[in-house]
Parts: sequence; C-alpha cells; structure tokens
Amino acid sequence: MHPAANVDPAELAKFSQLAHRWWDLDGEFRPLHQINPLRLEWIDGLVRLQDRQVVDIGCGGGILAEAMARKGAQVLGVDLAGKSLRVAQLHALEAQTPRVAYREIGAEDLAAERPGQFDVVTCMEMLEHVPDPQSVVRACAALVKPGGWVFFSTINRSPKSFLFAILGAEYVLNLLPRGTHEYKKLIRPAELATCARASGLELRQARGMGYNPLNRRYALTQDTSVNYLLATQKAP
Ligand code: SAH
Repeated sequence: MHPAANVDPAELAKFSQLAHRWWDLDGEFRPLHQINPLRLEWIDGLVRLQDRQVVDIGCGGGILAEAMARKGAQVLGVDLAGKSLRVAQLHALEAQTPRVAYREIGAEDLAAERPGQFDVVTCMEMLEHVPDPQSVVRACAALVKPGGWVFFSTINRSPKSFLFAILGAEYVLNLLPRGTHEYKKLIRPAELATCARASGLELRQARGMGYNPLNRRYALTQDTSVNYLLATQKAP
C-alpha cells in the first residue's frame, strides 16, 4: 500500500479495523475522547488556535483535528489509514465542522510538499506506532514555520509505564484493546526532546497525563513517567 513510507502495516491494520469506532464515546477510543479537552486547552493556551494553520499528523478519526477547527484554526488532518480518514471526513460533515480537511499522506511526503507552511503541528499518540519516529519528528519540524509550535504526545518507556499504560490499561482496566502498545516502541521524554532539538525544535513545556481509576478522570500533571506531552518551538 505504502511501500516506501515510514509505516508499520500491522499498526495501520489495527487502526483500520477499529475505524468505525472512532466516534463511539464508550468504545476503544474512549481514552482519546476523555483526554481531548485537556490537550486542546493546553495547546490553545500556548498558541491561541484561532486563525492558525494547523496540521495534525496521524489524525485518526479526527478527534483532535475537529476540536482544533472548532477553536477557529484551519486544520489539515493526515493519516495513512484511509478508512479512518473517511470516518473523520464523514463526522466533520455530520457535525458541520468548518475549516477541517483530511488527506491520506505520510508526514515526510507532506513535509516535502509543504515545508514551513504551518503555524502549529500536532502529532499525538502516534510516534509509538511508527518504525522510525525520528523521521516523523524531522518532518514535523520541517512542516512548521519559523517561530511555530510542534506538539507531541506519547508514552514514556519506564517500568511504571509498562505497569500502568500496558498491563493496567490493556489487561486490568480494559481501557484500551490488548496489543495497542508495545513496550520497546515507547519513547522517553528526554529521547524525544533530544530528537526534537536535533531537528531545530526547542522544548518549551512538558506535561504528564494522569488517570485516576477511582473517579475515572484524566488530568494534566507534572509527572511525565507514563503518558506525557511536549510543546516545542522552532527558532524564529
Ligand atoms: N492522533 C489521534 C489518533 C491517535 S491513534 C489522536 O490522538 O486522537 C494513532 C494514529 O496514528 C492512527 O490513526 C494510525 O492510523 C496513525 N498512524 C500509525 N502509523 C502511521 C504512519 N506511519 N503515518 C501516519 N499515521 C500513522
């Protein structure tokens, strides 16, 4: 399908199989719906999304892409799972969300086509699913304008994340389908920050995301040991 692209076909197949479930608030993607307001407000607080040109890399069904468009940004969502993009498109139509478009293209290909054209790049919960995450980080850096912001979120590689993000979330609490995340593909915050810096992106903020199984709520925290988000900025 995408022979030359930086993509793991098994990963894409996993997401394509679940594509019809993207907007089921109680389905497999429930955690993404639950964290969405948190990450949206965090991003908006740092960049004010109104009237920004935004690209969302690995947008899936468009949960974040649509929300950013509703904040007034012009959003392009890209992914390599065509099925998910069709679901995203249909949802945007049904919800009458303006200013959002979707395209089946890899981050690297888009970066070659539209370098330095976006004020904001988001790449959320995606790096842990690609064979060469560094290459995606480089592409994100290439896509953003000088002075623009790139946001990443992913899962730390630590004993605690193995316990909570894999065993806990997939096997005990059943928050995520089993096999969603593979330990060795996880990336530490320091590794991601180093990789971002090597691409010309300076770390501006790091946040953790915690899940409280008692009230079943997520919150942004200072603890990046399991789920975390990084805000980076390209030099002006
Ligand atoms: N960013 C979205 C979806 C996260 S799920 C959100 O946070 O709401 C991970 C997404 O990454 C899936 O939609 C999957 O299809 C996509 N993905 C996996 N490998 C990819 C690749 N190589 N290029 C682009 N997207 C990819």
